[in-house]
Amino acid sequence: PARERTLDDRLRARGWTDDEIERAPGSWAVLGSVILVEMGDAPRPAECGAALLDLHHEADTVVDRDSIDGPHREPSVEVIAGTGDTAVVHREHGIAYAFDVRDVMFSPGNKAERARMGEVVEPGEEVLDMFAGIGYFSLPMAAGGAGVTAVERNPDAFRYLLENTRLNDLDDRIAPYRADCRDVAPRVAADRVVMGHYDAHEYLDVALDALVPGGVVHYHETTPVAVGLTRPIERLESAAARDRTIEVLDHHRVKSYSEGVDHLVVDARID
Ligand code: SAM
Repeated sequence: PARERTLDDRLRARGWTDDEIERAPGSWAVLGSVILVEMGDAPRPAECGAALLDLHHEADTVVDRDSIDGPHREPSVEVIAGTGDTAVVHREHGIAYAFDVRDVMFSPGNKAERARMGEVVEPGEEVLDMFAGIGYFSLPMAAGGAGVTAVERNPDAFRYLLENTRLNDLDDRIAPYRADCRDVAPRVAADRVVMGHYDAHEYLDVALDALVPGGVVHYHETTPVAVGLTRPIERLESAAARDRTIEVLDHHRVKSYSEGVDHLVVDARID
């Protein structure tokens, strides 16, 4: 949620000055029983965490998430208040996501995109999710009736992918592979390929090879705002240039990635 006045009130009641309140975090996410917040250089993290627990009675732990690093997107988190139990079951759009916030990332800002992926699929479609994580997109797409080949190479994330497939009763729709998607993609003929990774451009060649003619790719990229859609579309065109044509069907700004950089997704049909 956007900053709630009540957090300010609760911090003021704890003796925070206006200047300190100004530096308190402006937003946070409640994932199951954990509140995820980026404290940055905000003062008095433990007190701020306690104030957040006062606001959200469904939560029992607050973690400060610093950064998400490396190709496996591993989080760096620190418990700042509560019991310290960081395992959650987060429910969103009818899907249950079990994971531990210490082990794997979960982007609150991708919520609308997770819901959209559940809506774009047609029952019976074959989907290749090249960077499945814990099932962020695979689960809603399978719940929407698609058959999903879900590829994830990080063993921690893969463990949750298996757990979430069972938890959502989607074993008959999700084929999970603990592998590099470069190795799995050539064995797949997909109506739709999801590329939910910031290095997705390095994999466009195998993604397009896995798509049946007329199939759709959902291509993610972090793009400087000044460049806009030009770079993602150029990259798609140059990957398709060998022998295929592309039609851009849709595009969205998923979220702001950092100052001056957006996380974009482009939907393109490749003939
Ligand atoms: N789509 C997710 C979301 O909405 O939050 C983000 C998934 S995360 C950014 C990307 C995942 O891709 C990570 O779990 C990482 O381990 C995995 N990954 C990275 N490179 C991979 C590869 N070559 N093959 C398979 N999985 C890969």
